[in-house]
Amino acid sequence: MVPTERTRLRRAREKARTSRADLDSVLAAGFVCHVGVVVDDAPMVLPTAYGVLGDTLYLHGSVASRSLVQAPASTVCVTVTHVDGVVLARSMFEQSINYRSAMIYGIPRVVEDPEEKLTGLRTLTEQCAPGQWEYARQPNRKELAATTVLALGLDEASVKVRTGPPDDADTPDAALGLWAGVVPMSVVRGAPVPDPALPSDVRVPSHIAQMSR
Ligand SMILES: Cc1cc2nc3c(=O)[nH]c(=O)nc-3n(C[C@H](O)[C@H](O)[C@H](O)COP(=O)(O)OP(=O)(O)OC[C@H]3O[C@@H](n4cnc5c(N)ncnc54)[C@H](O)[C@@H]3O)c2cc1C
Repeated sequence: MVPTERTRLRRAREKARTSRADLDSVLAAGFVCHVGVVVDDAPMVLPTAYGVLGDTLYLHGSVASRSLVQAPASTVCVTVTHVDGVVLARSMFEQSINYRSAMIYGIPRVVEDPEEKLTGLRTLTEQCAPGQWEYARQPNRKELAATTVLALGLDEASVKVRTGPPDDADTPDAALGLWAGVVPMSVVRGAPVPDPALPSDVRVPSHIAQMSR
């Protein structure tokens, strides 16, 4: 990835990752992003689901969603964040977070082509719940008409990663005798909880059972 004037990290530049593989890995590790879009002259930052296929990030939502309707009018900023740990230093000043994050800038395109719309929805579904697109009922015409799918290119993106212990081991604060280190964090899927309305003979399908492994 070649940094643009907009994606060049100014602060903590050593945390930049510039390979496309790093971007792909951050995007593949999640399915919730935040979309920053200007609506009525004010920024609106929305948590929403995403899916990535090749060089395209797909977003979806209601055709009535103000942010989605507004998005193709100008540049949006999509962020994906994974928190890997709380970094506890000897001083408040050096307290930090281990993370992997990506930011993508671009003008999204409304997906009009019916086939690509289904591809986008499938990509979103599978990123969140692999195997579910084939298992559950797929969208009908009415549902498709009520859904907007946006496609955003990955050309202008940045990745920032912090790893490791706190930064104050070689400062005078190290002599304070305080504990310092990292409390790791990760997101885990729990065991599937059946809908109480489910008949008892409907078993958990293997792709859902595997989600929590
Ligand atoms: C979970 C988490 C918690 C954070 N907490 C803090 C905090 O409390 N205080 C703080 O100052 N910073 C924090 N950061 C870092 C923060 O995201 C910014 O990187 C930092 O504030 C620099 O901002 P800036 O305005 O100087 O950006 P600049 O360095 O000027 O940004 C220039 C360009 O660099 C890229 N860029 C900047 N930050 C990121 C990023 N995080 N991920 C991907 N690309 C990026 C973007 O393309 C951006 O347009 C945190 C990051 C994460 C992921």
